[in-house]
Amino acid sequence: MADSSGFRRTRPASVGDWRERAECARFYAASPLWADRMWTFEDSAGEDPVDPVYRTMARRICESCPVRLECLADATAGGIQYGLFGGFRRNQRRALGNMAESDGVTVYSRSGGDLDARIHEFRDWLRAHPEALKRVESEERRLKQARRRAQRRRNMPDNRAFEQSTGDIPALFQ
Ligand code: SF4
Repeated sequence: MADSSGFRRTRPASVGDWRERAECARFYAASPLWADRMWTFEDSAGEDPVDPVYRTMARRICESCPVRLECLADATAGGIQYGLFGGFRRNQRRALGNMAESDGVTVYSRSGGDLDARIHEFRDWLRAHPEALKRVESEERRLKQARRRAQRRRNMPDNRAFEQSTGDIPALFQ
């Protein structure tokens, strides 16, 4: 089957040995294309063009994955710019990485240290700070609600012209 044009299918490149215990591995084994719809596909702007239902399913699976923190640390320290890892998108991973760095942990290559060491250090930090994951998740929910509210406002009819054209009507009710 042809890949959807405009999308990249790059996730398998990041497979490491801990991935043998990954929940998503079963999906990739059964149908790489289907699994890509859930975990990988993004457009070049890094947005989420995937049906939100697929993404929600993938997030739920990540939440119960036994190697969630390894996956998240690997993708963040490895600078992976696409997809869902550990149930987190790129911007969320970056937020977690920044939190850890401000706590003295070496996550990014610009901060030095080899990749394996950074992954392990960051994974240990994640393990010790479950509240950081919760904070990033709740921030995502808050942003989503704000986007929905803004969308609803954009969809509301603009009544200003109507109110101007009916300016004298209220007087009829007095
Ligand atoms: S956390 Fe999610 S993306 Fe990562 S290995 Fe597990 S199921 Fe796959």
